Amino acid sequence: MEPVEIPAFYCVYLLRSTINPRAFYIGSTPDPRRRLAQHNGERIGGAVRTSRPSLRPWEMTCIVSGFTSSVAALQFEWAWQNPDRTSKIKDSQRISKSIRKTTKLGRTKIVTPRMGAKALLANLHLLLHVPAFVRWPLSVRFFVEDLYPVWQAYCRTISGPLKAIEVTLDLRKSEQSRRSPSPPPPLGRRRAGSHSKKYLPTGEGGLQGLEITNDHYLDRHVQKSRDLLRDEDIKCGLCAQGFVHDGGATAVVCPHAFCNHVAHLQCLSRVFLETDVQYAVLPTEGVCPECRKPTKWVDLVRELSSRTRRKSEVVKTKKSIGAAGTVAGEEGEEGEAEDADMELMLSDSDAGFYEIISQISDSGSSLSVTDSDSAASVHSLGSAGKSKKKKSKKNRRT
Ligand SMILES: [Zn+2]
Ligand SMILES: [Zn+2]
Repeated sequence: MEPVEIPAFYCVYLLRSTINPRAFYIGSTPDPRRRLAQHNGERIGGAVRTSRPSLRPWEMTCIVSGFTSSVAALQFEWAWQNPDRTSKIKDSQRISKSIRKTTKLGRTKIVTPRMGAKALLANLHLLLHVPAFVRWPLSVRFFVEDLYPVWQAYCRTISGPLKAIEVTLDLRKSEQSRRSPSPPPPLGRRRAGSHSKKYLPTGEGGLQGLEITNDHYLDRHVQKSRDLLRDEDIKCGLCAQGFVHDGGATAVVCPHAFCNHVAHLQCLSRVFLETDVQYAVLPTEGVCPECRKPTKWVDLVRELSSRTRRKSEVVKTKKSIGAAGTVAGEEGEEGEAEDADMELMLSDSDAGFYEIISQISDSGSSLSVTDSDSAASVHSLGSAGKSKKKKSKKNRRT
């Protein structure tokens, strides 16, 4: 079977209108910078609901990342847009309840209540902990200062054991600190402005600094694995058996620098699951048996899938990417061909979703939603079908 590479980045985002801060929009994308530019009309391909001049420009308030596929991100996106009806949330746990409205013709329509910042973040928190998503290696990154405290305040109201989710506030570095590479400006100057009193820019510089491909890191990881697995006598660090029959196709290699731990996928999975949540089928993370560093399962699998994809396949994909399309975001950032692919993915992800975004309309002319989760699954199936087609196209060329 042809291995499918996990895209480097896929996220679900929450937009907020800078003109009307009560207007929100939830979407998903492999490239949040590009997507924001589309929503703001700086690039073609923005969603209809965000095109109203009375709401532009939009700002990206936060993103949820760590999805291993566009379908995974779409499922989360739909659930967050429709927390009142998604099957991912148990009825007893729902924070937002559907509103039944009767039309002039006497028909009943079910409307998702309009969510403010607090409800949106409460539902986000809830979704991160429901069984359908709790096992995913998701993290949240805030790009605006005012929503982060809302999130923190909400988290304090929750009791009981919860998954430790990586949540960061990643503020854009000031113009000055971005212009002068060194030395960094004094803290007092970076703090200038009423908004940055409490929080210093901690991350790589907000949305603009967001790294959506970790190719460099991945390349080094793949290179290390290839070097290690070139040794035909190499043994699994856990069961002491070799990899002779598959040439390392089931070997996972520790991603941490200076650690050369190699193990069978199965062996390490078993070890990780011992310390993971009970009844888990797939591990989310564990501790490397050799260097004892916490290691994300998705990093191991990403390297494995990248390494086992034949080189010729990569070259072919790069050549034909514009025409055939492939998993978005995996081939680096440069090149027009990839742009075309991105557009394809984005219009894909928007199709059929105009009607079911958060109720941002001020006029009250909210579009009715009658579909349940089936809308998302139908869409997901559609996407899966498409990628299968793409794959078979690729196969034919091979
Ligand atoms: Zn083993
Ligand atoms: Zn290690």
